[in-house]
Amino acid sequence: MSNIAFIGVGNMGGPMALNLVKAGHNVLAFDIVPSSLDAVVKGGCEKAASAAAAIDGAEVIITMLPAGDHVDAVYNTDVLPNISAHTVLIDCSTIDMAMSQAVHEKAATKDCLMVDAPVSGGVKSAVNGSLTIMVGGTADAFAAAEPYLQVMGANIFNCGDAGAGQAVKMCNNMMLGIQMTSTAEAFVLAEKLGIDSEKMFNVINVSSGQCWSLSSYCPVPGLVPSAPVNNDFDGGFGTALMIKDMNLALAAAKAAGSSVDVAEKAAAIYQDYCDEGSGAKDFSGIIELIRGR
Ligand code: NAD
Repeated sequence: MSNIAFIGVGNMGGPMALNLVKAGHNVLAFDIVPSSLDAVVKGGCEKAASAAAAIDGAEVIITMLPAGDHVDAVYNTDVLPNISAHTVLIDCSTIDMAMSQAVHEKAATKDCLMVDAPVSGGVKSAVNGSLTIMVGGTADAFAAAEPYLQVMGANIFNCGDAGAGQAVKMCNNMMLGIQMTSTAEAFVLAEKLGIDSEKMFNVINVSSGQCWSLSSYCPVPGLVPSAPVNNDFDGGFGTALMIKDMNLALAAAKAAGSSVDVAEKAAAIYQDYCDEGSGAKDFSGIIELIRGR
């Protein structure tokens, strides 16, 4: 069993850290939000007073932070100055590929094994330990990280070199962002055409319009019990985080000269919803905006 530092125990990191505890690991957790930290301490993590304190003596360091700036700051301030050689570094946050590669390079100068390992599946999969995890890094780093990733996920993919996990994740979330806008638009249109939402759900869930946004996160209440719509769009995947991911994809597409017209439109819808003050609500909440238009 290993000593693991877990930094960032929010909607996703919290249940991921608890699964490592259940697997018998010793997890020292840190988060700047006391209520998030208290929740995982109740579940069996040890409480660290700071990120630097969590890292002290850790064989494995896992970060699950909102965005690239947070990862960059935590690595530069707390992780890199305090780690010893051969520590296994796993960044599960979704961040831009270039920033991830820069962190990999710094970790290599410390003789550490690092992977970028962004995840997919939402809070339910984080709780169940059934996440899909997209990994970038050397073969040695993948081998060192894999036993811990297997505890948190069910589908672990080696996507290639440093940053490759982030590239695949960015493409996945661009598709997810587009699919939720089309799912919400379709349900609002069906409502206006007098179609019962449950009937619509049952038909499309076994038709060619089926997608994760429908089957796992349907934005209409009562159809998928675990969907954030049934919890007033609380928890889940914050709209501000979806905008971050859409913007990562748009920036990468611009740099690569790849056309993303539909993604641009979808990103604008999330931005409008965020500008209404709904950035902390689950991204499926855009159905409220679409219904009101
Ligand atoms: P979250 O905001 O719920 O959790 C992030 C946590 O990091 C928060 O508790 C915050 O307090 C903490 N934090 C921020 N700065 C910190 C610092 N300097 N030191 C310690 N803790 C710090 O976000 P989340 O939904 O858990 O998402 C985390 C990452 O996973 C994001 O990159 C997101 O894009 C990605 N992701 C989220 C989902 C989802 O469904 N929520 C799914 C897949 C991937």
